[in-house]
Amino acid sequence: MLPTSLTACDLRQILAFVAETIGREEAYLNSLDAAIGDGDHGITLRVGFNALSGKVSSLPDDAGIDTVLREAGLAFMGATGGAIGVLLGRMFMAAGLALKGRQEIGPVDFRTLLGAMETALPSAGKAKPGDKTILDAVHGANQALITSGGLEQDLSATLTLAGDAAQRAAESTAQMLARIGRASRLGDRVLGHPDPGAVSFSIILRAMAEWLRRQAGSQG
Ligand SMILES: [Mg+2]
Repeated sequence: MLPTSLTACDLRQILAFVAETIGREEAYLNSLDAAIGDGDHGITLRVGFNALSGKVSSLPDDAGIDTVLREAGLAFMGATGGAIGVLLGRMFMAAGLALKGRQEIGPVDFRTLLGAMETALPSAGKAKPGDKTILDAVHGANQALITSGGLEQDLSATLTLAGDAAQRAAESTAQMLARIGRASRLGDRVLGHPDPGAVSFSIILRAMAEWLRRQAGSQG
């Protein structure tokens, strides 16, 4: 049986799985950042997700979905420096606010979550789609869900679709010039290199989808 929705308990397990996955990708994410930045993106993500994972596992058993997402964002932001700490932190917190009172995350709730994450970004970072930032991956995932239709009953397919779209969008940032942030000073030297934040966001979504598929498999 495919899980049709996620409880707060599932969400905590998913975030722990994402943290493990990000830890394995640390060197890769550092290498992407070294090409167009200061090479610390993998370290930052690993430190942030370790803090996030530790925080959500220490929450009381009855913590709701909104609390888990809010505390995840606060922990990530508190443990990391730089723009990405603020951006990802605010994205989780905005998702928590958007899902306030919800007991489970179904496919429609997941669209709400992703939409809130995208909406949180421009106000935090002044970016637009096409600026070669994490927003490109978030926007790509959202657009895929908006245009897909028909997947509302299947959470696993919804997350897989979003994760794959985020990955394609992250890859497409290699062809973009950076208009904001440190990389904007490098001009066309950034061409051929994807934005590390967009890539890490696609890894996060794909890890969530992978966790769901594993659940389905383990339940036979
Ligand atoms: Mg960096």
